[in-house]
Amino acid sequence: MNMAQSSSFSRAIYSEIEEIGWEHLARLAEDLSFVTFRVVDKKERVHVLEILLDKSYPNCPPSVSADVPYLFNLEWSTNSRLKDVVKQFRQYSSLGPPGIEKNDQPIECGICYSQFLPVDDEFGPKSGGRTDYTCENSTCSKAFHSVCLGDWLRSITTTRQSFDVLFGNCPYCSQPVAVKIGTRK
Ligand SMILES: [Zn+2]
Ligand SMILES: [Zn+2]
Repeated sequence: MNMAQSSSFSRAIYSEIEEIGWEHLARLAEDLSFVTFRVVDKKERVHVLEILLDKSYPNCPPSVSADVPYLFNLEWSTNSRLKDVVKQFRQYSSLGPPGIEKNDQPIECGICYSQFLPVDDEFGPKSGGRTDYTCENSTCSKAFHSVCLGDWLRSITTTRQSFDVLFGNCPYCSQPVAVKIGTRK
C-alpha cells in the first residue's frame, strides 16, 4: 500500500469517527487496525465495542467484538460506515437478554453512595453487606442500607420510633418508610 492510499484510508476512518463523535472513542490503534468505542445503550449500560479494520474495509464487514454475552449480527452493505456499526450495536445491546438487566447493575445506597457497607464489627452481621432496603414508591425505588437509613432517620426530629422500628420518610421522595433497627452493638 502506498502513502496516498494509506492517508485516504485514515482520512476516511477519521471522518467516520467524527460522525460518531470523538467523545465516544475509547481507543484507536496507531496503524488503524482497530478502533474502540464506548457505547451507552438505552438502559444506560456502558459497553466497549471493538471494531477491527482491515484493508478490505469498507468493502467487507469489519469484525466486531464487544462485552456482551450474545452474538451480534452486523448488517452490512458497501455504503455502511462505522456509525452504522455503533448504531446497530447500541440497538442490539439495549435489548439485552430478558430479565437480567436489574441484577447486573450495582445498586448504590442513596445515603452513603456505596454499594457495600464497610467491613466493621460495628455493623454486626450486616458488615460489608449490600443495600437491603428499597423505597416502596415505584417512581423512586431508591436503595439503601437499612443501617444508613436508620441513622438518617434518627437524625430527623419528626421520626417516630415504635419498639425497634423507625418510622419516617424517604430522603428522596418523602414516601413513608419503616426501618427495623437494633443490629448494632
Ligand atoms: Zn449506605
Ligand atoms: Zn423514595
